[in-house]
Amino acid sequence: MNYQRRRLLKWLATGIGASSFQAFAGPVVPAATRSYAVVVIGGGFAGATFARTLRRLDANVCITLVEPSRQYHCCLLGGEYLVGKRNEETLVFGYEQLRVEGIKVVHQKARSIDARRKQVRLADGAVLGYDRCVVATGIGYKYDSIAGYSGGVASRVPHAWGGGEQLRLLRQQLEAMPNGGNVLISVPVDDYRCPPGPYERASLIADYLKTHKPDSRVIVLDAKPRFAKQAQFEQAWRRFYGYGTEHANIEWIGALEGGTVQGFDEATRQLLTEGGPVSGQVINIIPPQQADDFSRHNGLTAEHGWCPVNTQTLESLLVPDVHVIGDAAYAEKLPKSAFAASCQARVCALAIYSQMYNLALLKPKYMNVCYSLCGDNYGISVVLQYQHDATTNVIEIETLRVTPLDSSDEDYRREAMSAYSMFDSLVKEAFG
Ligand SMILES: Cc1cc2nc3c(=O)[nH]c(=O)nc-3n(C[C@H](O)[C@H](O)[C@H](O)COP(=O)(O)OP(=O)(O)OC[C@H]3O[C@@H](n4cnc5c(N)ncnc54)[C@H](O)[C@@H]3O)c2cc1C
Repeated sequence: MNYQRRRLLKWLATGIGASSFQAFAGPVVPAATRSYAVVVIGGGFAGATFARTLRRLDANVCITLVEPSRQYHCCLLGGEYLVGKRNEETLVFGYEQLRVEGIKVVHQKARSIDARRKQVRLADGAVLGYDRCVVATGIGYKYDSIAGYSGGVASRVPHAWGGGEQLRLLRQQLEAMPNGGNVLISVPVDDYRCPPGPYERASLIADYLKTHKPDSRVIVLDAKPRFAKQAQFEQAWRRFYGYGTEHANIEWIGALEGGTVQGFDEATRQLLTEGGPVSGQVINIIPPQQADDFSRHNGLTAEHGWCPVNTQTLESLLVPDVHVIGDAAYAEKLPKSAFAASCQARVCALAIYSQMYNLALLKPKYMNVCYSLCGDNYGISVVLQYQHDATTNVIEIETLRVTPLDSSDEDYRREAMSAYSMFDSLVKEAFG
């Protein structure tokens, strides 16, 4: 591994500048100094990473994590599960390590925040007081923006944009589809969770079809005219799946070609696009998205549907003493990824720690790295470094690096291996 790569991995391990993290992380404030209480709502990548980071910084703080599920079903590498290349157990994580570290984990749904009293009410009626509340409750779906689609229909026609049951259903449907059938994937406009995710899914489905149902095709119907890492994806699709030819296992129809999906007819199994109806045996509608219900019902969201935050501290711009991290947050211009969620979690933990001990806030450093698998031993990536501007509150892209189009087979293999390493390190940071 070369020097640049080692530096990158070190950077990835922290999500913010490694040196500033180390300077800030120690020494941990000893027990028996002033104590404070933090309630974290949501135990996904953002919430779990936040809780563990704050615990590493401060042995004294009382942290309660509220999460309804006993196990977290993650989306990363879910595409491999979908096409039978991975067992579901490898995508499921528990909260034991958080408990070992002295974080109280309560398996309940949070119902409401009383910002004036600084209390969180849970579904069982329990009330938790806080000095700071951190909301990390992820995304919700705007089902009504596609006529004929709804939460109820999604139980039969899955979006599979979260792990667990939805992903299982889509896998069963793919397996049951006869050779010659079409798989349709409907992709929304931005902002949505994991911008390159639909195209990774399409790639892995094309790979599966090529081997198991060679006369079948996955058709991506896109509400956007372009997409992340497009040239890299299309190069892989041409190389492996006959993209652009009559016998291709994959096709992409962008917004300019009429790909925007406006409706769904369940009876005829058709997606109704601007360019006309398209029939599919397996239909995967990824609906437009917004912050989850909890954020929306507790006054944390703005008109665009996401939770505006101060990008130095991740504090809500709408509700005092509440921070929002992860996919629910509108942290201009960070994408919605587990990597970015993990960065935000660290920045937020450092900020709350500083605020509680009257320390100066550090200038945050953000980064996002996103790997996509296009087939066996073939990965591509985008690495973005950002510059935080405290005056505009915007996190501007400073540098962007995408896998070069003239990469060697060995480079693509390494990218795929890095995707797995990244998964391991994000999971380890969050769940131990
Ligand atoms: C197909 C796919 C592939 C992806 N691949 C990648 C990838 O390769 N790399 C990458 O970086 N990212 C990837 N992502 C994105 C990544 O999964 C998300 O960005 C990440 O999960 C966001 O974390 P989060 O903690 O904000 O939200 P979540 O992971 O959704 O966690 C939110 C948690 O909040 C809980 N919750 C919700 N409401 C309440 C409530 N009222 N009370 C208490 N708890 C509540 C939920 O149960 C959940 O556990 C992918 C996503 C998809 C869909």
